[in-house]
Amino acid sequence: MSKFWSPLVHDLVPYIPGEQPKNANLVKLNTNENPFGPSPKVIEAIQAELNDNLRLYPDPEGQALKATIATYHGIKADQVFLGNGSDEVLAHVFFALFQQDQPILYPDISYSFYPVYCGLYGIKARKVPLNEEFAIDPDDYSQPNGGVIFPNPNAPTGRYLNLTEIAVVLKANPDRVVVIDEAYIDFGGETAINLIDLYPNLLVTQTLSKSRSLAGLRVGFAAGNAELIEALNRVKDSFNSYPLDRLALAGAQAAYEDDDWFQDSRNGVIRERERVSECLHKLGFEVLPSRANFVFARHPQWAGFDLANGLREQGVIVRHFNKPRINEFLRITIAKAPQNDALIEALKTLC
Ligand code: PMP
Repeated sequence: MSKFWSPLVHDLVPYIPGEQPKNANLVKLNTNENPFGPSPKVIEAIQAELNDNLRLYPDPEGQALKATIATYHGIKADQVFLGNGSDEVLAHVFFALFQQDQPILYPDISYSFYPVYCGLYGIKARKVPLNEEFAIDPDDYSQPNGGVIFPNPNAPTGRYLNLTEIAVVLKANPDRVVVIDEAYIDFGGETAINLIDLYPNLLVTQTLSKSRSLAGLRVGFAAGNAELIEALNRVKDSFNSYPLDRLALAGAQAAYEDDDWFQDSRNGVIRERERVSECLHKLGFEVLPSRANFVFARHPQWAGFDLANGLREQGVIVRHFNKPRINEFLRITIAKAPQNDALIEALKTLC
């Protein structure tokens, strides 16, 4: 609190990102990063840009990358919006596409940046409880609202809705924007981008941070009807005309061009996810069915907090949320086999 601060800042409750420990020997399974790293072609493209072009401004519209993403998903370039990570895309979405006459709806157990954006813009929100199985029930999203948002797969549960279930929410809200945050969709889900021509109220966000292993480069995008994209562009151009720098544009472009690398790395994560889930079952854990690059699991005899601390003492960091209903759970990022084995061995000493 300071007399120099705007009164608007006094009440902000900011997002706290997951811990990035300095000790490189720790087995870091807490922030859903991709263990395989980006394609070598991404590094080459960034290096070429570094050598030749840093003195020049980037393309403020990122047209080449938009065209690549549009072609990849079978949509038009004016149906794509680019941002500095999907967090920034979402910041623009909350400002540009949610109405203030009713509370927006999102699940009570979900991505914790949503309430932060609501606080930032003074948007009212109503949290919709997950069902008994920790899943989103599409029928719960037909009540009056100023907009709807949820991750699919949901975070931190990893649970997934298919496109038929997503369509239920879209049909129930023809006059409100429904945002599907697909940060983790590439690990086994089907993207709702395939529905944008059918539903003018649908906006889908994705990121290159997870399945394309570029969390450090900060690239995300939204796909939706051109009318929705135009609103996002207005906000962007009132805020920062160049959200993506030259390195990010070049690296992201190269990531889409190396589809073999992408397929191998996401399949590697999926395979390890199934193996880790099986090992956790054998140790007595309940593991929610996950389509993400993490699993959400609890043990009937051991408190989540104690397990997370016990793991940390053995050099393994996982995420524990001190929140009602999910207090017993651990969110565990899927890494490569040796790190996953280290987790399982550490758990064997605790459970
Ligand atoms: N949505 C969800 C559900 C997430 O978990 C994350 C990652 N923390 C993001 C969006 C943002 O990802 P990024 O800004 O790296 O694109």
